[in-house]
Amino acid sequence: MPKITIDSTEIEVEKGTTVIQAAEQIGIDIPRYCYHPGLSIVGVCRICLVEIERMPKLQVACYTPVADGMVVHTNNEKVQQARRAVLEFLLINHPLDCPVCDQAGECWLQNFYMQHGLYDSKMVEDKVKKQKALPIGPNVMLDSERCILCTRCVRFCDEITETHELGIFNRGDHTELLPYPGQELDNKYSGNTIDICPVGALTDKDFRFRTRVWYLTETPSVCPGCSTGCNINVHHNDHRPYKAGGIRVSRLKPRYNPDVNQWWMCDEGRYGFTQVDADSRIVAPQKKTRGDWQLLSWQDAIDEIATKIKGILNKHGADAFGVILSPQMTNEGLFAAKRFFQETLEVENIDFEVVAREKGYADDFLMKTDKNPNSEGAKKIGLSAVDNSGLEVAQMLADAKDNRLKALYICHHNLEKGFKKEEVKEALSKVDLVIFQGTNQNSTSNLANYCLPSASFVEKDGTFTNFAGRVQEIHKAVEPLGESKPDWTIFRNLSKRLGKSMPYFEAGDVFNALAEEVDAFKGLSYEKIGEHGVLLNGHRASTEKEMGALVA
Ligand code: SF4
Ligand code: SF4
Repeated sequence: MPKITIDSTEIEVEKGTTVIQAAEQIGIDIPRYCYHPGLSIVGVCRICLVEIERMPKLQVACYTPVADGMVVHTNNEKVQQARRAVLEFLLINHPLDCPVCDQAGECWLQNFYMQHGLYDSKMVEDKVKKQKALPIGPNVMLDSERCILCTRCVRFCDEITETHELGIFNRGDHTELLPYPGQELDNKYSGNTIDICPVGALTDKDFRFRTRVWYLTETPSVCPGCSTGCNINVHHNDHRPYKAGGIRVSRLKPRYNPDVNQWWMCDEGRYGFTQVDADSRIVAPQKKTRGDWQLLSWQDAIDEIATKIKGILNKHGADAFGVILSPQMTNEGLFAAKRFFQETLEVENIDFEVVAREKGYADDFLMKTDKNPNSEGAKKIGLSAVDNSGLEVAQMLADAKDNRLKALYICHHNLEKGFKKEEVKEALSKVDLVIFQGTNQNSTSNLANYCLPSASFVEKDGTFTNFAGRVQEIHKAVEPLGESKPDWTIFRNLSKRLGKSMPYFEAGDVFNALAEEVDAFKGLSYEKIGEHGVLLNGHRASTEKEMGALVA
């Protein structure tokens, strides 16, 4: 392996490593615009110039492979002067938009000018004008004047999505990034071009002018949009006091995980968080009285529901009770449900799958048909009808229709997505007690006797298990809306009221209990999960790649 010296530090690296990558390994951050570790190397921006001893000119660090004995200087006077010159060149025609540019605060032209530029402009000529605020796709706005022609977005569309919508047109200072004639930037992953654009040339229609980025806090989490479980950061504005009907989550951004999504996420997941602050959120426990919803305190809701459940079990037995859980729930919510229904109530009619498996678009990159984040967790915890020798959802509805089922506890589902509307309506109207627990109202919640508000994925801690058996953490980014609570807390409280305590105070307690009890999770602990997740027993590290989650 070649040994090189970078800024007086000696390092041994794999053959083929470039200077920029070698420097990164020892914590030296060489400025870059066009270089992105997930894309091919083109060396067009020249900001990463470094001095390599015995080479006559400065070299681009992104393109130059290391050689044994190489001595590199990344920050001497010669290098600093070259960086200043590159910045001066890039800024010749760059508009003075910073005060009105949505990228301000996360713009690498701004940042590098402050770190390496700080010169007085010599330019007196008028700047070349180009198109501004040009919509180039359903999600992306282009400001051509701000583009520094790094070609990251072009390479993304050529190499990652292979949809080839973008190109560089014209010559000299009229050179411009644009979609090809008649095309728009409309692929399933178009939002990633906004993330990788180092300046304010590509901005997000959904986010622009909503808030200044320095007001945002980011909380690491996992996208609940499908079973891939892309790692994300939830960006939320904690500086703005929340008003009813306001928006707390500003945007989702992909978070690097080499084994799951690398640097990327799909647009469906990126823009699919609107239900978190939607008007349809259930914000307090409620019961239907003579057709009208009446709000309840949690204490009253738990008391009333517990009394009714007890009454039905005493009169009709556990076989008259059906439970429909959801792979939208965390492992903790599902495990607490298992304990409550199986141990406290001794109910066996538990299922989660049928309607949850609503199919959606899938590809051989990240997006999966299963639009639930935790089907694998639900399976491994043993919550299907087969595991419990109980009734499947379809049979529960049939039994309800025939008056054999007297109570149904439905979590998060809209049953009309899996069954005919009339069938669901008829079945639920025959049941004495229908409890709906979820984040948002839907046509199933409207047919219930009680609605209990669950915290959404940005309002709680917990874990999801992705399709490949990787357990990954979600974290609370904002306070639960209204009176909503994590699912596991609701089951714990109901269980306590019905005589069986669960000693859980936070999500980690539930996960650790799950890891003690369920074989697939044995040996894991909440503390061990870490930022990139851990695999369940029996799953190999390369499973995701083998199953086509990543481009080779
Ligand atoms: S739009 Fe952004 S990512 Fe694309 S070439 Fe211009 S600066 Fe680079
Ligand atoms: S691929 Fe799935 S998990 Fe990833 S961002 Fe899209 S919806 Fe979310």
